Amino acid sequence: MSDKQTPKVNVDGGQLVFKAITAGLKPDPCEPMSEWADEHRLLNQTYAAEPGKWRTNRTPYLREIMDAFSPSSRCEFVTIMKGAQLGFTEALTNMLGYIIHRTPAPVMMIQPTQNLAKRYSKQRLATMIKDMPVLKGLVADPRARDSNNTTLSKAFDGGVLFIAGANSAADLRSVPVRFLLMDEIDSYPYDLEGEGSPIELAINRTKTFARRKVLMGSTPTVKDVSAVEREFLKGDQRKYHVACPHCDTMQELVWSNIKWDKDENKVHRPETAFYACSHCAGVINESDKLAMLQQGAWVATKPDNNYRDTRRSYHISSLYSPWESWENLVIKWLDAQRDPHLLKTFINTTLGQVWDDEANSVSQEDLQKKAEAYPLRTVPLGGLLVTAGVDTQDNRLEVVLWAYGKDGQQWAIDYHVFFGDPSSPKLWDELDEYLQKELQHESGEGIKISATAIDTGGHHTQRVYDFCRTRRYRHIIAIKGSSTRNKPVISKPSSVDVTFIMAGGYRYSQRGYLWQV
Ligand SMILES: [Zn+2]
Repeated sequence: MSDKQTPKVNVDGGQLVFKAITAGLKPDPCEPMSEWADEHRLLNQTYAAEPGKWRTNRTPYLREIMDAFSPSSRCEFVTIMKGAQLGFTEALTNMLGYIIHRTPAPVMMIQPTQNLAKRYSKQRLATMIKDMPVLKGLVADPRARDSNNTTLSKAFDGGVLFIAGANSAADLRSVPVRFLLMDEIDSYPYDLEGEGSPIELAINRTKTFARRKVLMGSTPTVKDVSAVEREFLKGDQRKYHVACPHCDTMQELVWSNIKWDKDENKVHRPETAFYACSHCAGVINESDKLAMLQQGAWVATKPDNNYRDTRRSYHISSLYSPWESWENLVIKWLDAQRDPHLLKTFINTTLGQVWDDEANSVSQEDLQKKAEAYPLRTVPLGGLLVTAGVDTQDNRLEVVLWAYGKDGQQWAIDYHVFFGDPSSPKLWDELDEYLQKELQHESGEGIKISATAIDTGGHHTQRVYDFCRTRRYRHIIAIKGSSTRNKPVISKPSSVDVTFIMAGGYRYSQRGYLWQV
């Protein structure tokens, strides 16, 4: 049944919260959340990599994070900056189950958009409630006509759960909550309908509760604009240390210590991937991983940031994932060497680290050492000209530079994101400066961008036209992205020497002046 057909239930959030607070004044339980999850949580086969009983022992690094969010811990702010495939979403769902079952109170879970919030509610949350006998009796039946159980708000004995989208100010300003869980905060809008950051708006909702809990998690995005990086730096910056099976030295697993062989033809062999201990250089195999995780411990690198244990922050990469082998990560890494998009994705979602645009390549020294193929912002020897493609989004401009050689050869040579409001001139000034910068050619010469195509598809068409009109002499043109690849949309190209096909489906001629806009 779609939302439209569901009988409209008029949920009065304030009233629900009031009822919850007066009815649910139970003392807080001392049972840590991880113990509760091991005893009660069931994972559904539709969504879980390993259905059946939850076992914290499979992802031992989540134990302390879940327990920090338990009322028995005094910790108030918990931030997790993380890679993918670590079981984090299930841990969040555990938190909701625990609150409903053990410590009922008003609680809010925020997803980047209202659609994602609905999806989360219908899939993960509804499935957990349906599958777990201890929860089923506590939450109103969604099929009952007068039920206080809708997709985005669920009343339960002594509490109410709101599932909100970070793109909806109405969702966020509605009610006070004691528990606040924010997922994927780097995908939230910077400014919500002129009312500021949705993260701040939501945190304001918790201020009336003396024993509040605020959790923020995300894979990070770009250095200095990443919300999860900012929150991580405010906290005590914990890293998960595991012991080397050879020398017992506790250490954080880092990408530069993943090693693999090449064969006699210098072809990479990801299947030989192993971890080299940072102390004794001993070979640590994939098969050692789980036992190491189980003996691991979080270590705060900035303990001074955690006054009275109120602000903990955690960083963890996919190197620790029980579901992602080191071999697989090496394959991803090798793929990423030829495409800045993939490299950024690797840094963000595998290493759980911010992408450093300023360095024009990779934030870590050890990554730079490993970078083969060709460095970013350098045009390979066969490259004859460089073009830029600009994508206009609501909160950023994304630029990809391509180099072209003979016979349609092409290389992606840079990827850069300008965060900010595309309706403000400042952002366009930054883009202009970037487009005028000379690039390095492998021959040692400098090379300039020959032409730039800016997509007018977003909400800032007039800005794009204004920008292009005065820069035509630099072959900066406005184009309209087409759903059909390689199809010119605005007009036929005139006086074409060579037409190169650009990524994204745009055509470009070496002579330029292609489209009259
Ligand atoms: Zn060792």
